[in-house]
Amino acid sequence: MVNQKIAAKFKTISTSLKCPLCQESLDLVQYKSLLCPNRHTYDISKHGYVNMLNHSAKNRYSKTLYKAREKIIMESELFDPLHDKISAVIHDYFAHSSTPSLMLDAGCGEGSHLKKILEKSGIGTMTGVGVDISKAGIEQAAKNYKNELWLVGDLAKPPLADQSFNMILNLFSPSNYREFKRILTSKGIIIKAVPRSGHLKEMRNSFYGSNENNLYKNDEVVSLFRKHFTLTDTIHVTDVRKMDESKLPYLVRMSPLSWDSNQAAIHSFIGRNSGHVTLDADILIGINK
Ligand SMILES: [Zn+2]
Repeated sequence: MVNQKIAAKFKTISTSLKCPLCQESLDLVQYKSLLCPNRHTYDISKHGYVNMLNHSAKNRYSKTLYKAREKIIMESELFDPLHDKISAVIHDYFAHSSTPSLMLDAGCGEGSHLKKILEKSGIGTMTGVGVDISKAGIEQAAKNYKNELWLVGDLAKPPLADQSFNMILNLFSPSNYREFKRILTSKGIIIKAVPRSGHLKEMRNSFYGSNENNLYKNDEVVSLFRKHFTLTDTIHVTDVRKMDESKLPYLVRMSPLSWDSNQAAIHSFIGRNSGHVTLDADILIGINK
């Protein structure tokens, strides 16, 4: 049984979506499915999300990873400085607008960043929509967070209409700038977070040793961003937090860094670490050119 409240929300945003197969518009029918004129149908699942992926996607992002991610984002304060800065930018842009607006989190995973940022921004007229290719991530998001809308979708070909989102959020996740430009309204903003060299360095040093090859370099990311959008601001966020020892295993599990590391390295990180963890990121803010 589809939750009527969630179905009603999908109805209000249905003009911002499009059929991933034929690119036609979608309409909500019988409060349970999105349907295009060519009769391609996308049902609202019992958990409240819509799967708009028309091919199966295999990836290594598992339920375990998403549970760990939720734990760290929601229950540790590691990402709070990032959320605060981003929310402040959103607040400045949208606080004086009384018209409804839509925020897309492109590559939202299990949705906790979007949830926190929307909450902190305090823009009552803004609705959040999270899209990710991982069904495990979206299912968890839909179970946990009922105020936002969740779609399984491919960001290479997002099932989203032209100029339909006032804001795009893209945190530590690959970008598809051509599509982002298409989706964003002419006055919309894009906020992208990219890691800097110190990001999670305690964990990377533990896994790989501290050498220069491990350092993230953002120059190319920034110049690619500027090719597509006018960069209006870059905010550098850096912070070191003492993390409760019980949370460290979740930090390891949420990171793809641990995929190629053996159990011994993971245990050694947890055992040896003083509990200090560094958040180090750049927030790029752009507008459509
Ligand atoms: Zn269609």
